[in-house]
Amino acid sequence: MYDGLLIVLSGPSGAGKGTIHDKVLKILPNIKKSISVTTRKKRINEIEGVHYYFKTEEEYSQMIADGEFLETASVYCHNYGTPKAPVFEMLKNGNDVIFEIDNFGSRQIKKKYPDALTIYIMPPSFKELESRLIARGTESADSLATRLGNAKRELSEYNDFDYIVFNDDADVAAEKVVAIIRAEKCRMNRNEHIIKGMLENKK
Ligand code: 5GP
Repeated sequence: MYDGLLIVLSGPSGAGKGTIHDKVLKILPNIKKSISVTTRKKRINEIEGVHYYFKTEEEYSQMIADGEFLETASVYCHNYGTPKAPVFEMLKNGNDVIFEIDNFGSRQIKKKYPDALTIYIMPPSFKELESRLIARGTESADSLATRLGNAKRELSEYNDFDYIVFNDDADVAAEKVVAIIRAEKCRMNRNEHIIKGMLENKK
């Protein structure tokens, strides 16, 4: 077990996990963020190496062949993956690492690391999810329809997660995620090695 905690934030697109992820990082700035690789096109407000590493399909396939990913998923016809090496580096250094990924990726991480903390961000209602996706305006009509079609399936996968946070107010939801992370770090089994060290060294 690493000292650092793997924190996975998932949720249907439009649930607001991106906003909550950013707010959590403002409150807990020591948490490191995992930067994914994607083969989708860069959006206008996105920065290479900050939001994603943007790769061609060939580069992505090569990374898979080289075993560079911790998990991968195909979301809305684009490929995504979490590069393994930076995550292990951050964990080894005792940092907590946060992932903003889809349900499929979350399941892969939980399977490999049952100790990972998985949190599902839920919209307050399906209607609200629809409005948020439309308001975001980053989707083409086709992509929007696909996302709405997938949203119901994604919602039904809630029981794969350790915690559920309803996002009707992003600040409140982010505070709840922070509270979950803080509580998780106080779990007995995550701190047992410190106590055993104290007992052995009588410090
Ligand atoms: P977007 O293209 O809107 O940034 O992200 C689309 C979906 O892909 C979101 O649900 C996002 O969480 C997910 N995603 C982003 N990066 C990764 C990743 O590395 N792995 C997986 N499994 N999903 C990802």
